[in-house]
Amino acid sequence: MKKRTFLKTAGLLGTGLLLQPVIGCSNKLLQGHALPAFTPFSLPPLGYAYNALEPAVDALTMEIHHTKHHQAYIDKLNKALNGQAYKGTAFGIAEICALVEANDAAVRNNAGGHYNHSMFWKWIAPTTDNSIPVDLQTRINSDFGSLTELKKQLSDAAKNRFGSGWAWLTVHKDGHLFVSSTPNQDNPLMAALVEQPGTPIFGIDVWEHAYYLNYQNRRADYIAAILERINWQAVFESYTLAIQR
Ligand code: MN
Repeated sequence: MKKRTFLKTAGLLGTGLLLQPVIGCSNKLLQGHALPAFTPFSLPPLGYAYNALEPAVDALTMEIHHTKHHQAYIDKLNKALNGQAYKGTAFGIAEICALVEANDAAVRNNAGGHYNHSMFWKWIAPTTDNSIPVDLQTRINSDFGSLTELKKQLSDAAKNRFGSGWAWLTVHKDGHLFVSSTPNQDNPLMAALVEQPGTPIFGIDVWEHAYYLNYQNRRADYIAAILERINWQAVFESYTLAIQR
């Protein structure tokens, strides 16, 4: 297989579809080879109807959040990258997050915005199956004692985030799970910026744009509703990829 074909197959060519870290991987692949052309990021489909999460999240909030807010992060990220792979080697959105530096505000805010929202749509997707795969349940019990305690920590982290930001469930590099919070559009992949780096497997957007139409100032009610709409199969898929790194 030609190198360029392989890179396309591996999803490294900037489509925005590659959402898990590939730190180092693409750099090795690219060593000694001319860089392929960069493809601008584009808005991924939501995967379900805008009203699918009602009453937890209303349809208008979902539509504006997806087509306006998420799209704006993508547009600004593409503008900041100006047709180039980030730092000359990073094509995937997770890889860009992992490499971003504190003073690179346009990429920091908008690569974070694109990654965070792309994953959020998957993690809160509507589902009638609320069961947690056994391997993940075992890990949760080991690290938090119970699902109830995990949800309490997530709720506290989300409620206590001052201003805009996210609360996260993240896999540490040693394999254990932890809950944390980041401001703005930072995320735990941004190892140079966050106190507790790792690979996020669930997150809650607590920017007011995520809930204000329906909940106004009642952030805690929105958080409680989101915690009942977790797509555990999607979270498990993120967990499985994270522990294979
Ligand atoms: Mn948002």
